[in-house]
Amino acid sequence: MKIAFIAHDNKKDDIIDFVKRYKDIFIEHELYATGTTGRLLNEIVGLKVHRFLSGPLGGDQQIGAKVALGELDLIIFLRDPLTAQPHEPDVSALLRLCDVHHVPLATNVGTAEVFAKALRSHCNNN
Ligand code: PGA
Repeated sequence: MKIAFIAHDNKKDDIIDFVKRYKDIFIEHELYATGTTGRLLNEIVGLKVHRFLSGPLGGDQQIGAKVALGELDLIIFLRDPLTAQPHEPDVSALLRLCDVHHVPLATNVGTAEVFAKALRSHCNNN
């Protein structure tokens, strides 16, 4: 599957911790991320990740374009609900495109855990 990761700055530690816990699963898939998130997942977790621009510079929109083209299967987007983001319109656009195209989207660690467990059982059954 093609999986994209995005984490706002206050959620970077959470995404690193989450992806570390499921590294054995994610390593089997094709991974994408916004710039800084992707760099951290590569340098700290050790996963190969295709990196887009940083979110505020257009990375969310690049991921949205791939969603619109049917080129991503799952999005894990740990957004910060307590801090205003300069690129809020891009964030809303990405959430909307996921809904338009029925792409599963996790916006918090609880949902991301459910997705990761589903991926694990899918891998074990194949
Ligand atoms: P970043 O972008 O991974 O480059 O920090 C995330 C975002 O704020 O959308």
